[in-house]
Amino acid sequence: MNALVYQGPGKKNLQNMPRPALQDAADAIVRITKTTICGTDLHILKGDVPTVKEGRILGHEGIGIIEEVGTSVTRFRKGDSVIISCITSCAKCEYCRRGMCSHCEQGGWILGNTIDGTQAEFVRIPWADTSLLHIPENADTEAMVMLSDILPTGYECGVLNGCVKPGDIVAIIGAGPIGLATLLTAKLYTPADIIMIDVDDHRLDVAKRFGATKLINSSDGKAMSRIMTMTHGRGVDVAIEAVGIPATFSLCQSIIAPGGHIANIGVHGESVPLHLETLWSQNITITTRLVDGVTTQLLLKTITSGRLLPTQLISHRFKLSEVMSAYETFGNAAREQALKVILTND
Ligand SMILES: [Zn+2]
Ligand SMILES: [Zn+2]
Repeated sequence: MNALVYQGPGKKNLQNMPRPALQDAADAIVRITKTTICGTDLHILKGDVPTVKEGRILGHEGIGIIEEVGTSVTRFRKGDSVIISCITSCAKCEYCRRGMCSHCEQGGWILGNTIDGTQAEFVRIPWADTSLLHIPENADTEAMVMLSDILPTGYECGVLNGCVKPGDIVAIIGAGPIGLATLLTAKLYTPADIIMIDVDDHRLDVAKRFGATKLINSSDGKAMSRIMTMTHGRGVDVAIEAVGIPATFSLCQSIIAPGGHIANIGVHGESVPLHLETLWSQNITITTRLVDGVTTQLLLKTITSGRLLPTQLISHRFKLSEVMSAYETFGNAAREQALKVILTND
């Protein structure tokens, strides 16, 4: 089968790989029908994720059709249409039972990391019963792909951890796909204002279409003073970091109002100064989280009812056989005006 294979930092190949086979009674083999590329895949290609070894098939998002199930799988059978969660959950270990499936002792984020992933014609999914979701009939299949990672990540790590409430002033730093998914799910709570901050005017335009109430292009370095003016010197109730660099996390610390929440989503590759000398008395909460996938089912219902429209996040479409070009487009997001790319295998 065709698969996108990591060949060490900066190197990847579309190549022929053996089709995966069942290894455990709880496994399923899924024929991928749609998948996508994540910012995390770009981090892997930079060499930022040392758990990913050469020869690994990348990808942790996608939907497909069940090809084969192990003898202990009870919720799925051949022919079922499924969403693949980026988080594999055994549902039995201490972390899974606490709802922290990202730290599952036998799962967590393993797809396209420590086991072969979804940018291929077939993938093996461990703990299939509790790591896959049924796709309802007549659902928009492209919207379903957004449930593998981006929507639950924005919602769980940003909106829920940030405790977004009606009337809040919310700042989202980073208007890439994750920041935009956070914006879409934050709107479900009717905050008073959603301030979107980015260095790319195209992304800010998209954010405005998605419902951001205020936009700030931070490339002039004046984002903090503009936010303080907008909020009459008070700051924001929720600051959500969706980039993963020191400057953006520092901005969150400088704009947070007393009692506010700073929710980190970004993948950080270096240490960030923590300004406890100003924050120690401000009653703020700082959270970090890896997506657990525990809200995927409720987000699925919100999509099928028409309350959440995630296909707005999709900017480009390719065939799976064009995955190398898709990486080229996604990797040059500003130039290509790329958000999420969909790769179809049929
Ligand atoms: Zn992802
Ligand atoms: Zn577990």
